[in-house]
Amino acid sequence: MAKAARQEHAALVKRLCATGSRRLDERVHALHEAVFDTLSCLDCANCCRTLGPRITDADVQRIAAFLRIKPSGFAGQYLVVDEDGDYIFRSMPCPFLGGDNYCSIYDVRPRACRDYPHTDRPRVYQVMALTLKNSAICPAVFEILERLRKGA
Ligand code: SF4
Ligand code: SF4
Repeated sequence: MAKAARQEHAALVKRLCATGSRRLDERVHALHEAVFDTLSCLDCANCCRTLGPRITDADVQRIAAFLRIKPSGFAGQYLVVDEDGDYIFRSMPCPFLGGDNYCSIYDVRPRACRDYPHTDRPRVYQVMALTLKNSAICPAVFEILERLRKGA
């Protein structure tokens, strides 16, 4: 069933990319609200376990200040530079994810964490290919695509 759904989601995403961006934004944003009303990230935390968010210099400054350590100390302890030259966490699951699925730096978390899974951003058609990929990790994204597929 999951494989069949994913194939249908791939075809759906292709069709949706041709939809007017404003109309698609309205549909996806409404579904984002509806789905996250029924689902708690604290029951999931898949993104915090598996995806390595890109961490910007602004993120480093903000998180280091929150932790009361020097930015260079924060970077040295928690971050590595990936093949694209971006900071990512040294290891995943994220070192700030607690056993209760709470993020211990939630108020100052990286911008990439704040923005994930991108289903409430403007011009969502620009990230539909990424949305399809995210549906394999994020149950909320999977459900949004399911509801779109069913015409909800
Ligand atoms: S910083 Fe927080 S929100 Fe971001 S991956 Fe780590 S635990 Fe999750
Ligand atoms: S994968 Fe999706 S549902 Fe799960 S914690 Fe992340 S954003 Fe929330």
